[in-house]
Amino acid sequence: MLPELPEPPLRLNLDWNALKANWQALDRLSGKARAGAAVKADGYGLGARKATATLLEVGCRDFFVAHWAEAADLLDIVDPGSISVLHGPQSAADCAYGQAIGAKPVINSLSQAQRWLDAGGGLCDLMIDTGMNRLGVPMDEIGSEVLARLDVDVLLSHLVSAEEESALNALQCSRWLEARKALTHCRASLANSAGIALGPDFHGDLTRPGISLYGGIPRPDMGRLIRQVVRPEAMIMQVRHVAAGETVGYNATFTAKAPMRVGTVSTGYADGYLRCWSNKGIFEANGAELPVLGLVSMDMTVIDLTDANDIGEGDWVAAAYDLPGAAAASGLTQYELLTILGRRFRR
Ligand SMILES: *Cc1c(COP(=O)(O)O)cnc(C)c1O
Repeated sequence: MLPELPEPPLRLNLDWNALKANWQALDRLSGKARAGAAVKADGYGLGARKATATLLEVGCRDFFVAHWAEAADLLDIVDPGSISVLHGPQSAADCAYGQAIGAKPVINSLSQAQRWLDAGGGLCDLMIDTGMNRLGVPMDEIGSEVLARLDVDVLLSHLVSAEEESALNALQCSRWLEARKALTHCRASLANSAGIALGPDFHGDLTRPGISLYGGIPRPDMGRLIRQVVRPEAMIMQVRHVAAGETVGYNATFTAKAPMRVGTVSTGYADGYLRCWSNKGIFEANGAELPVLGLVSMDMTVIDLTDANDIGEGDWVAAAYDLPGAAAASGLTQYELLTILGRRFRR
């Protein structure tokens, strides 16, 4: 028999208490509405199963995924009736699957509504397009007879620019109110993370935070509420000395001005630590800042250990990854910074 597989040299340091605290803060900020949770894309890359189980502990009861496979992944953890599948039933097979597991499809069009009813229907959610022009029933179709035959739990819409002071916010809010008056439903929902901060008019009965649960700060005024959840960490595999005038990494983009001590860290762009961090990213250990030297490789990144003699081979270093700061530094969005974190990180 093989010995147990050794631990990989890279891991996500995940603060599940911060996830709980973030949900509780967003639930409070949602006023009379209750906060749900977007756990699509594997919980924004951090692990949907663990995120869902953790959020259940603090009272979250509504979970949003994009795909049916993402619902399937949660069936043994959460009451299937509390899962909403945002992409809805695209085929008869989706309908049959949704009915068998008891998760709610989000109906996004008249054809999805008809398909769901043809399959026998059942409790569903209904997405109204108030301005995104992506998924959802357009406002000029909300009077359609087929929608009146649906058994709608959550009537939802999705904000285009909640993180900005955009005139679209008020416009979408008024269209959503119009849809609420026109269609029978149990609960109404509009706000994503940033939308929660827009105030009570946007809250309805249920809010749907995603990014801020996981430490994202879409509006500066949310910074004091939200705690960082994830720190990517990796091990230093080798330490070496580089003479003045020598270069580091592919294409020799970094040249040492003086003798340096450098460390090779076991993470690279294949893990989502993208090339944009080349000669720019910072790792941290024992309070020291360790700049990235040269280009990030597929599986490796070289960092400066010249002023950190206490750090060496086998030590773990953490990428500086506070999401607003990392987004500003990298040009990636806070959403991308989370969802690109690769499968090789132990979670
Ligand atoms: C992803 C998503 C959310 C969560 O949005 P955040 O900006 O991450 O808070 C909410 N609602 C819908 C329909 C979504 O697709």
